[in-house]
Amino acid sequence: MVLLTELRGRLSAAVADDMRVRDQVVCENLRRIRLGALLVLPIFIVAAVLLLPGTWQAHDGAVVSWKLAVGLTHLASLCCALVIAVLAHRALHRNPAGRLGRVLPVAAAVVTLLIGLALTLFYQWVMPKTSPMVVTALGVAMLLYLRPSVSAVLFVGLAVLGFVALPFTQHDPVLLASGRISALVIPLVALMFSILSWRKNTVTILLSRSLAQANATLAAKQVELERLAWHDGLTGLCNRTEFMRRANQELLRALRHQHPTSFLLLDLDHFKRVNDHYGHPTGDAVLRHAADLLTQSVRSTDLVARLGGEEFIVLLPQTGLDAALQCAEKLRFAVQNQPLSTEVDGPLFITVSLGVVDVPHDSGADMTATYAAIDRALYRAKEGGRNRVEVGMLQDGFSPTEPARLAA
Ligand code: GH3
Ligand code: MG
Ligand code: MG
Repeated sequence: MVLLTELRGRLSAAVADDMRVRDQVVCENLRRIRLGALLVLPIFIVAAVLLLPGTWQAHDGAVVSWKLAVGLTHLASLCCALVIAVLAHRALHRNPAGRLGRVLPVAAAVVTLLIGLALTLFYQWVMPKTSPMVVTALGVAMLLYLRPSVSAVLFVGLAVLGFVALPFTQHDPVLLASGRISALVIPLVALMFSILSWRKNTVTILLSRSLAQANATLAAKQVELERLAWHDGLTGLCNRTEFMRRANQELLRALRHQHPTSFLLLDLDHFKRVNDHYGHPTGDAVLRHAADLLTQSVRSTDLVARLGGEEFIVLLPQTGLDAALQCAEKLRFAVQNQPLSTEVDGPLFITVSLGVVDVPHDSGADMTATYAAIDRALYRAKEGGRNRVEVGMLQDGFSPTEPARLAA
């Protein structure tokens, strides 16, 4: 009883799985039919060519009948294979899930099994051979994905037909008995293979689907991880690590191409008060607003990053001190004159202090030295009353690295 319930559960799960892969199975069947039909064409041609010419020269009547029947069956099979291949191709290109796409595999299976049976029957005139039945039955079972209900009808039908038809061509009682046993066993074995192959195919399709899904999820996570590695979650700017990497690269490029590079370090003035007066969410909104203003105010080739807290840094490639100072003033002006609009508190004005440093191409300064200089400049801007720009000198606390070593 328990076994029966378990079997029923397994069967309904298998049927449910089958429904999920139905369309894919139809396409796979059509592809296999098209390829299989084309591949067997040469066999049919060779068999017909070997058997038909000179048929009449045979003296034995049974041999003549055998040669003629088998040769003509191969010719007929050739035509069937061509028609099936064309129909499968059409169904694949027009509407695989349509009526033709669903019926064709069953029709191809029926035709193949009938060919195998016919050849087996004709062979009985000269020898007790059942190999055509074996080949075609196993071929159908292994190559076509047929539902168990369909394959059961097909193979049981084949067994009955074989059993009933064999006496028409095999008159030796012993050979007939052995042939009939084969006619029963072969379809039974084929049915078993067909069911196993159907289930295996369903499981394989479902597994490859979940694998593809898992791969897609993994790829999306990978992209997200890569983004997180260089991204500042609050402002969307790149983070300190990524900025330092790209800035160091830029310094090396500047050294090679002999152009100056400048940096701006910005710190929002009295930002703590914003948090204290309006709360941290508003503070966050101010940080995002400042990040937007900075990004909008610089060139697309410049790089803005959030170093942390309310401190931002800007890389200005191929920019000397004069242009960097102009840019710094533009940013200071933009922040001062474009307040954040808040619904509750109205416009929220902020200011920013900036340190500027230009790095001549042959200075040999890396980012550690540059950051030290620009930080001192920012400190002076704060000391000098805030909302102002100060220029930093690389020599401030800097022992230059050999440019040649940097470029190496
Ligand atoms: P100064 O003009 O000297 O720069 O003064 P300040 O208040 O801006 O500087 P201070 O270093 O005293 O305070 C910086 C504040 O920035 C303190 C910290 O709570 C706040 N802060 C840092 N990171 C964040 C953040 O991600 N969101 C918000 N809302 N506040 C932050
Ligand atoms: Mg500050
Ligand atoms: Mg600060």
